[in-house]
Amino acid sequence: MPAAATFGRLSDPRASLIVSDVRIIDPVRGTDRRGDLVVVDGRLSREERPPDAALRIDGRSLVAAPGLCDLHTHLREPGGRGEALGSGTRAAAHGGFTTVCAMPNTDPALDEALRLRGLLAHSGDLAARVRAIAAASVGRRGERLTDYRALAAAGAVGFSDDGSALASASLVRAALAYLAPLGLPLIEHAEDPSLAGASQMRAGPVATRLGLAGWPPSAELTIVERDIALASETGGWVHFTHLSTASAVAAVRRAKQLGTRVTCDVTPHHLALTDRWVAGDRRFAWEAEGVTADGPPESLDPQLAYDGSCRVNPPLPSRDDALALIEALADGTIDAIATDHAPHPPERTLVEFEAAAPGIIGLETALSVGLALVESGRLSLGRLLEALSVTPAATIGEHRSMQPGDLADLVVFDPTAHWRPTDATLASGSRNTPLLGRELRGLVRLTLAEGRITYADLP
Ligand SMILES: [Zn+2]
Repeated sequence: MPAAATFGRLSDPRASLIVSDVRIIDPVRGTDRRGDLVVVDGRLSREERPPDAALRIDGRSLVAAPGLCDLHTHLREPGGRGEALGSGTRAAAHGGFTTVCAMPNTDPALDEALRLRGLLAHSGDLAARVRAIAAASVGRRGERLTDYRALAAAGAVGFSDDGSALASASLVRAALAYLAPLGLPLIEHAEDPSLAGASQMRAGPVATRLGLAGWPPSAELTIVERDIALASETGGWVHFTHLSTASAVAAVRRAKQLGTRVTCDVTPHHLALTDRWVAGDRRFAWEAEGVTADGPPESLDPQLAYDGSCRVNPPLPSRDDALALIEALADGTIDAIATDHAPHPPERTLVEFEAAAPGIIGLETALSVGLALVESGRLSLGRLLEALSVTPAATIGEHRSMQPGDLADLVVFDPTAHWRPTDATLASGSRNTPLLGRELRGLVRLTLAEGRITYADLP
């Protein structure tokens, strides 16, 4: 971490501070104005003068926005390696997140109320709020539904067998019917294993050139269309996580127009990175203008090709699909950005591509990747911040407010300052990202959760 950076916890005393002359973006009210942000004893205040002892921050180059919320975080608790509750929530605070939703594909799975309560019991003493997504089926085996009512009472904000889709359509139908009265979403990792098979990357000319088994977009679309039909029939709420194809997004767009209860998210890496990264290309999707969409990669970079940290599930999209995802995020078809922060220890990713564990860490780079997208002119800053904070928060029943009197839950960042994710700067317990060492824009200066400073990097 930068020498001056410090972390706090949700159990720390509430902060008093002033960020003067800062650009304040409030996606709830649709406002974007410059002013002083005053926090007194953890609450946003209308008072002109903060107490004398308050921390004073020059906000002229900074932006303040509601605290970010991640719908899809692998904290690997219980039983996992590569992350821990402490390091994962510090990574969240470093990235500007005040809430992370822990995914249930752990060992054992989060499929019992007692286990869920065990996870959430730690939450108050960490650097970010932890919410829990419970397993949709017992042991994530896709045979028997978990006890939705008991898990919801224990704090589950959604249900998912993430890592795979529920294989049985009749089980999805039952899950959606049970969840409808609870008002909670079934969160689907949309992937048909009979089509995805033993694939290693997105099917297409790059996969052919590299000689890697390809994952066809139909693997995603068939599950999305099946679940939309079941949501429309049952009135249940289906949320598709980490969508990666233009065709699936088009299906969601049609379903929304017909009034079906469907929402979805996309990861920063599916917006910015493309299947060409597996061949060693390091241009963001929007930087590769003029590259023939369907042609093979013009050159194979021997230093960067087959980098195991580019292996992810669903696989990195074609450039055309990445651009379609960006368009769908901009027009609201895609509701939220979720990181799918998937930490792995080095022995699982610094290996042959075929043997690499799929997954990319994302909590600390999500805002930076989003700001690069904003810089490209394809997304507004307001929409980016809405998709990272207000919308995902609303999905799990959290309200983000920038109103006086409310507890300060926000991020303050410098949108033009640069940094590099390295061993020294990352707080996560893992390093598996192809963005390691790359210069990124957007530096988080301050994260406040429930009125407490959870991260500060102040000059
Ligand atoms: Zn998944």
